[in-house]
Amino acid sequence: MADPIMVDSHVHLFRSKEEGQADKDGYEIWEYGEKPHVCFSEAFGTVDEVMADLAATGISKAVVVNLFVGEAIRAEKRARVSGSATGRERDDAYDRIDAELAHELTAFNQWICDVSRAHGEIVPFVAADVTVLSADACAEHVRGMVTENGARGVKLHGASQGFSMSDGRLWPTYAVCQELGVPIIGHSGPDKAGAGFAEPRGFADMLKAFPDLTVVLAHMGGATWDQAREIAENHANAFFDCCEIIEWTEGTNAPSEVELAQLIKDVGPHRVMMGSDYPWYDLDHTIERVMELPLLSAEEKEGIIGANAMSILKL
Ligand SMILES: [Zn+2]
Repeated sequence: MADPIMVDSHVHLFRSKEEGQADKDGYEIWEYGEKPHVCFSEAFGTVDEVMADLAATGISKAVVVNLFVGEAIRAEKRARVSGSATGRERDDAYDRIDAELAHELTAFNQWICDVSRAHGEIVPFVAADVTVLSADACAEHVRGMVTENGARGVKLHGASQGFSMSDGRLWPTYAVCQELGVPIIGHSGPDKAGAGFAEPRGFADMLKAFPDLTVVLAHMGGATWDQAREIAENHANAFFDCCEIIEWTEGTNAPSEVELAQLIKDVGPHRVMMGSDYPWYDLDHTIERVMELPLLSAEEKEGIIGANAMSILKL
């Protein structure tokens, strides 16, 4: 029998080692509580690194789900505007910052689409951010990236970006994705302020409003994984990836190994995809983790490591 197809449905890539390191340093993983030995990756997330890892593991496609956190970059840039600036000078400086942000977001998205043109294994999802672009401009940007630049979907991270997955400003973007038949992959999990922007329940309104839009709840809800079942039950257009949560099983706020496997069974193993969340975790270890899950059949695991992503994400 031929080897099963393998797809990593959740990878982050960076333009340089330095950018990757800075992002890893700045991203705190707190929601799963305490776990003594988490198997983190040493990688920085450059294109060369991931291409080598794909070749080494036999994974044929890596879905890149880069995110753009406009609010955080804006706050950093604004903090650098001198306190001695007058009101008018400050307003002008803030306007320039907003224009820079819009440019940085579109350049970042253009970069990953260009990478994909040179490396067919890379499947580009682009970042959307309605704190950087207006609702309509965001939707039109996504349309252009899909129709002219080869983007295959959109990545959102409500918990970091500071808006709910069901924020009305995202409606035009969701409408464009539904029309073009490209999926949304959204980080799912709690946020520190307790707003619930990216908890599975935060997806309910958008899932209902766009029934033909394919929506992936990354991490199966993370530390709010207990909400994933009801979302799966009520919304046929909801799918999942099991990255990160699979590296944190037995953590104090995480499911046990058996609970995670049971969750996958309950939402439907055909609706779940393998992801590494590289460069936080390694591709080879992620495959091992899926293969060692209890309760699931060999066939179900085969789907999770690749075949499901091929059909859910229309690869
Ligand atoms: Zn991720």
